[in-house]
Amino acid sequence: MTENKLEFQTRAIHGNGADTSTHRSIRFPVFSSVAFAFDSPEDMEAAFNFRKPAHAYSRITNPTVEHFEKKLTLLEDGYGTIALSSGMAAITNTLLAVLRQGDNLIASKFLFGNTYSLLKESLSPFGIETHFVDITNQNEIEAAIDSNTRLLLFETITNPQMIVPDCTILAEIANRHNLLLVADGTVTTPYLFKAKEQGVHVIVHSTTKYISGGATSVGGAIVDLGTYDWKNCPALSSYHRYGAFTFLARLRMEVYRNFGSCLAPQSANLQTLGLETLALRVRASCENSLAIAQYLENRKEVRKVNYPGLESSPWFTNATKHFNGYYGGVLSFELASKDGAFAFINNLKLIRRATNVNDNKTLIIHPASTIFADCSDEECMSMAISDKLIRLSVGIESIEDLLRDISQAFES
Ligand code: PLP
Repeated sequence: MTENKLEFQTRAIHGNGADTSTHRSIRFPVFSSVAFAFDSPEDMEAAFNFRKPAHAYSRITNPTVEHFEKKLTLLEDGYGTIALSSGMAAITNTLLAVLRQGDNLIASKFLFGNTYSLLKESLSPFGIETHFVDITNQNEIEAAIDSNTRLLLFETITNPQMIVPDCTILAEIANRHNLLLVADGTVTTPYLFKAKEQGVHVIVHSTTKYISGGATSVGGAIVDLGTYDWKNCPALSSYHRYGAFTFLARLRMEVYRNFGSCLAPQSANLQTLGLETLALRVRASCENSLAIAQYLENRKEVRKVNYPGLESSPWFTNATKHFNGYYGGVLSFELASKDGAFAFINNLKLIRRATNVNDNKTLIIHPASTIFADCSDEECMSMAISDKLIRLSVGIESIEDLLRDISQAFES
């Protein structure tokens, strides 16, 4: 049976499961080695010139990392994957591989804080400008496109606003203007969001979250879905001879190699294990999230709940169209004041005060005073980050215990 005909969960367990070790281990070994030996200088020459596939040095490729990359490619139904040291490295490497000085990109103004900072602060000195737009407003996106625009970047569910953009519209705009459509699919993973079917060209993940098994290690991934005509990308002109492999070739042979943001084989091993249980954990955390969102909607202390799985959410229709019946493991809600939000967070006994999402444990944070602390009041306002807002990343504990903790925090 071909591997991509198998159901998601079976692919996650058995996909790319070839037994390559002399001991016939059924889990892929951790090759904790920097260098790999060759039989001859001719073999070395062929490997260094990419004429013969071989592992030479672990900053460029490593068998354990490659095993993880291939499994993720299979789950995304992609063309190829590059695994990196973090989600931020995945975004940075993607942008640096396809943009050159003078190019610009259109990005959602609702972005993870460090991604926003990367675009606004870190890339502009290199002559790469970002036009931030309301990604749910088609006219605003179209108006921001000019002859140097190359790429459109968005997150499948924005955090902490919990907005789900209409991907069909974004794909149509991107294709009409020959732009590369890049999605950050961290919080939806390939289990909830089938990026290729939704018209995305390249999907990036912070594998630190769900994919790592619930926060076991920091990592990132870039998956080329094989749906973009790379001839539209001038920054890649010297790699166009690689055809469908153009983008991955520039990454592997230049950008990823030179910036040195490789994933450690030990982390790749944890993340492969994470992929095997991904669907089970994502389902559990999404079911808990929906139950908590519904509970919060009925509490008089709560002014507003943001969760795309609520029928009252303006993003319910998009989320139902794009996801597989689950709506993510993160939600946010507003209380009457910042003091009220702090008191609620202080009263929790089980839920941890920590910054991360899609951990196995439920985590809570006050975004305005932490993740968005370096944004001005104006920036926070334009990103809908109020100081009354609380973000909850919902884990896979028993729902009864989570609801008990939340309820006692309101009452005490
Ligand atoms: N993208 C999203 C949507 C995130 O939430 C995060 C981190 O929280 C990142 C990217 C960056 O990931 P990492 O911390 O692995 O660099």
